[in-house]
Amino acid sequence: MLLIACPWCGERDETEFHYGGQAHVAYPADPEALTDVEWGAYLFVRDNPKGDFAERWVHTAGCRRWFNVVRHTVTHDISAVYPAGQPRPSQESRPQNEVTA
Ligand SMILES: [Zn+2]
Repeated sequence: MLLIACPWCGERDETEFHYGGQAHVAYPADPEALTDVEWGAYLFVRDNPKGDFAERWVHTAGCRRWFNVVRHTVTHDISAVYPAGQPRPSQESRPQNEVTA
């Protein structure tokens, strides 16, 4: 079970939140210019790293606001929480104990 620190409400149980997929997926600047393959890739293809992953969450049982979380996909350690629309924080200060493969 995750303990997620909502930027507005503080730490809450994972059951108060819903997952919203990968963060920082920009809407195409000119969607009419995309081929069907490119549009399909925008809609359905996402990164699947073994390590830190920036993802969207919404606090559905609380403030109902969207925000981003950087979560390690193996250990589920959360290294950053920040409001939607802000850039991903630098991970340079993160300890070097990540799983590599
Ligand atoms: Zn909240």
